[in-house]
Amino acid sequence: MLTDQDRIFTNLYGMHDRTLSGARARGHWDGTKDLIAKGRDWIIDEMKKSGLRGRGGAGFPTGLKWSFMPKESDGRPHYLVINADESEPGTCKDREIMRHDPHTLIEGALIASFAMQAHTSYIYIRGEFIREREALQAAIDEAYDAGLLGKNAAGTGWDFDLFLHHGAGAYICGEETALLESLEGKKGMPRMKPPFPAMAGVYGCPTTVNNVESIAVVPTILRRGGDWFASFGRPNNAGTKVFAISGHVNNPCVVEESMSIGLRELLDRHCGGVRGGWDNLKAVIPGGSSVPMLPAQLCDDAIMDFDWLREQQSGLGTAAVIVMDQSTDVIKAIWRLAKFYKHESCGQCTPCREGTGWMMRVMDRLVRGEAEIEEIDMLFDVTKQVEGHTICALGDAAAWPIQGLIRHFRDEIEDRIKARKTGRVSAVAAE
Ligand code: SF4
Repeated sequence: MLTDQDRIFTNLYGMHDRTLSGARARGHWDGTKDLIAKGRDWIIDEMKKSGLRGRGGAGFPTGLKWSFMPKESDGRPHYLVINADESEPGTCKDREIMRHDPHTLIEGALIASFAMQAHTSYIYIRGEFIREREALQAAIDEAYDAGLLGKNAAGTGWDFDLFLHHGAGAYICGEETALLESLEGKKGMPRMKPPFPAMAGVYGCPTTVNNVESIAVVPTILRRGGDWFASFGRPNNAGTKVFAISGHVNNPCVVEESMSIGLRELLDRHCGGVRGGWDNLKAVIPGGSSVPMLPAQLCDDAIMDFDWLREQQSGLGTAAVIVMDQSTDVIKAIWRLAKFYKHESCGQCTPCREGTGWMMRVMDRLVRGEAEIEEIDMLFDVTKQVEGHTICALGDAAAWPIQGLIRHFRDEIEDRIKARKTGRVSAVAAE
């Protein structure tokens, strides 16, 4: 269990002063200049040593990602873009960082930008995050006034500007290249890769896109050392992690814990357990709406980290844990997600544009039981035709929840179809 001394986010709940003086009292902005004086290579090495994997969902090693940026500028400026779009259903961790502990992110932005030779960084924040934007902008203004941003930021000799840009509420703008398009003032449509952003990102210049949490943990990692961070969690799954737990638990919450904590321990310790007790658990979506669910029988020994969840054909994603108890109609829950992904598809590539609609329409009928048993396999087949055949990961995100449902709750789907045919029970109607 993570102790308070090892928590990076000491004001996650907004119980303390979030202004600069409060942040400084909690140890932020302490010796930033000295950290930067140690140089780029030291910073990147330390980040690699920490084992930090990106906190936005994909889990790509952060230090390695930074090292992809060109060592020397070819004349084009470098940029750091911070993805604060946080639109994945169930995910609400970055907003707590931005509204209650914004200086962790601002200090991290300065250090990370220096490491990648960027004089400018943009934070792309979700349009609906009005209060978060206000809190973050106030913190940025304060940092400018205190000389921590701008010319010779924090006395480091590095000129650094940080801009907050707000989106208009499209889920797809959380995809890194769609985010860059949107930032440039265009429609948020994902780009084909390559070129990758490190070669040609925003305005065609070398760019790294990182999640809010990935950047906000940087200053503390450097102050306490990469080895300290790596001491939490299992090998290859290092660090502390902010989990967001919602659904059928007694106290839904956002909490920073050690990576690789057991799911049951996480729910019991911080959420007052599953509503109605552990045996009342039906399923868990462990990493935001796009990852396949785990049925209760896999939850007993579930380990909340990238590798364990991948071995179960699920994923840690954004570590947004959605808990469903026995009262849940899991078919309807996944139907609702299918509807969401259909709505959010940008329509650029055929398997996603057509496939999300197709999957949603079959789910419409499965919810009501108005289908044939063979259609379950057909639906699974379609998810496989969408998965991996699209420009961006939205296609996968739409396919995986349905695959999880069919893998683990096929009986329930079949039962509903049979019930409908025999009139045994009234099936749940999709609204
Ligand atoms: Fe757009 Fe979907 Fe293709 Fe992504 S997968 S580019 S959201 S159509």
